[in-house]
Amino acid sequence: MIDRVKRNRYLILRRFVQVSVMGFLIGGNAYGWSVLRGDLSFSVLFSTVPLADPFAVLQMFFAGSKIAADLLVGSLLVLGFYGVVAGRSFCSWVCPVNIITDTANRIRRYFGSTLKNNVKIARSTRFWIVALALILSWVFSTAAFELISPVAVIQRGIVYGMGLGGTVALSIFLFDLVVVRNGFCGHICPLGGFYAIQARLSSIRIKHDHRACTLCLDCKPVCPESQVLKIIGKSSGFITRGECTNCGRCVDVCPEKALAFGIRQPFNYRRIR
Ligand code: SF4
Ligand code: SF4
Repeated sequence: MIDRVKRNRYLILRRFVQVSVMGFLIGGNAYGWSVLRGDLSFSVLFSTVPLADPFAVLQMFFAGSKIAADLLVGSLLVLGFYGVVAGRSFCSWVCPVNIITDTANRIRRYFGSTLKNNVKIARSTRFWIVALALILSWVFSTAAFELISPVAVIQRGIVYGMGLGGTVALSIFLFDLVVVRNGFCGHICPLGGFYAIQARLSSIRIKHDHRACTLCLDCKPVCPESQVLKIIGKSSGFITRGECTNCGRCVDVCPEKALAFGIRQPFNYRRIR
């Protein structure tokens, strides 16, 4: 039992954080708790600190909307936290969609090669959707992606009552299960794309020790962004690509402790051989 907890420690911690964030948002909406009020697009921490989705605010800026001071401050705080410290960890530690896509991926691994990718989508598609969302926001003078964002629909569904959120959640689950592995978060979600772009310089990174690695490759199938693990078997150092969600799953499963969380000095891209 203790061994099992140790082998899933970051997974358990992430679920705890995800459920707590959603719990505080639900409590704020339904019972007036003041820990975290609002939703993942805009919320207020302890009735004082504004927190806003920087990608939504950027779309509003492109749409020509006047950005209120609390939205601007909230988005800069969130951007600063993830951009300087925590990388793309919003996707695996906060966003509730991650629970759906992790579940689909787990079932996929269970069925092995039976569930092949039926459609090929480039992982860079999400970056093009980021650009498209900003262009459409400018053309139509409205935050374009926010109108259709599955992430917004699901998290608002959880906080304010499910409605359409259940259907969207099921669609994402089936898409990841039978169409493309890690299809939504790893290929098309522009919010994930936006966080991946800003995460390139962040400090908390996964560190690989080449000397301890036995090349068992247990880390690759569990990684939702396995292309970031190219360093495995080659050299020691930090995983520098912004697509890594800092989920810690690779750290959990590595039997040799060749992977761990580390703090990278800003702008240090050196690999240790
Ligand atoms: S799980 Fe650990 S030992 Fe196995 S390949 Fe990955 S880093 Fe190396
Ligand atoms: S490299 Fe590790 S921490 Fe980063 S996304 Fe993959 S499994 Fe998660």
